[in-house]
Amino acid sequence: MPETAQHWYFNKRPKDVIEEDTLILRSEPIPELKDGEFLLRSVYMSLDATNRVWLSDWDTYMDPLPIGARMLGFIVGEVVKSRHAGFAEGTLAVGLTTWSDYVVTTGEGFVPFPKPEGISLADAFGVLAVAGPTAYVGLLEIGKPKAGDTLVVTAAAGAVGALVGQIGKIAGCRKVVGIAGSDTKCRWLVDDLGFDAAINYNKEDILDGLRRECPDGIDVHFENVGGEALDAGLTLMNNFGRVVICGLISTYNSSEPVPGPYMFRNVIMKRLTIEGFVILDYAARFPEYHEKLVGWMRDGKLKYRLHVAEGLESAQDALRLLYTGGNNGKLMVRIGAAPN
Ligand code: NDP
Repeated sequence: MPETAQHWYFNKRPKDVIEEDTLILRSEPIPELKDGEFLLRSVYMSLDATNRVWLSDWDTYMDPLPIGARMLGFIVGEVVKSRHAGFAEGTLAVGLTTWSDYVVTTGEGFVPFPKPEGISLADAFGVLAVAGPTAYVGLLEIGKPKAGDTLVVTAAAGAVGALVGQIGKIAGCRKVVGIAGSDTKCRWLVDDLGFDAAINYNKEDILDGLRRECPDGIDVHFENVGGEALDAGLTLMNNFGRVVICGLISTYNSSEPVPGPYMFRNVIMKRLTIEGFVILDYAARFPEYHEKLVGWMRDGKLKYRLHVAEGLESAQDALRLLYTGGNNGKLMVRIGAAPN
């Protein structure tokens, strides 16, 4: 057992993009366990677009992370020492904790992580921790797709978007159109995941592309990006369509007020329902979502890619990939070896 642990600390609030000194890595002695605590050895950490939001001074769904605090993220790890009745040594736990290779915790924010049989820990964590439940809730419970609908998804080749499009097909959508930032990502969506069409927003105007690919209009628009894509979607919505605001990643680095959307009038003209959500609010229902998602994973109905950065020290650089499209699939960090 090591005597010291590595932790990332919030050092300096970024003005826009995350910089070299936004977070700093420090080594500290691991304290002795008290009653009711356990020591977690981190294995995988999820990097999420919202991590940048936690570094802002915005009024959000969580208390702001104070400068000088340890950075937060979702981690799955192994309980290596325990004085906690709910977390036995040798078991896996998942939760919102600090960016650390070893951490002593009271267990607050953690739940046991029963790894599904036949699925690797990386796949189980990558799909089930955040992206899968987000795609499931956002599309099925908020977007409410009906058989025959046309569904548009932005950041479609990302962790959430790729799952949304496939769940849309499972739900009977007639046409699923993805928007992504490269030809390679667009080809993956159509050739491997079964999207009906994909638009490379770096190559063509999104509205032109959507007019071509959605001749019957859009019934469900699943927004991960914001800006031009949201406006284009709003422009082409059908009557009584649903607009799911899952993420607005194109705005997370903005220090200036964000303009638009300009076609907001269509919320009235087309009688739209527009709804945002935060997946943390649905934590109590994760077992239900996991059962469905695991079933689809086992049946080969859900395909996904993991983009795994190696080592806790790579976490800050890896996080920046999300805001440039440099990630290919669910972005996570492998902090330590998966237990056998
Ligand atoms: P992704 O794996 O989708 O990675 C982010 C992708 O966003 C990038 O790969 C890039 O894809 C695209 N992107 C980044 N910046 C821009 C930009 N300026 N313009 C256009 N596209 C951009 O990440 P996640 O799946 O983890 O997250 C996707 C979205 O879902 C985020 O907005 C996130 O905040 C949201 N989310 C919301 C949750 C909730 O509870 N509401 C929970 C989890 C995620 P490309 O190469 O195609 O440009």
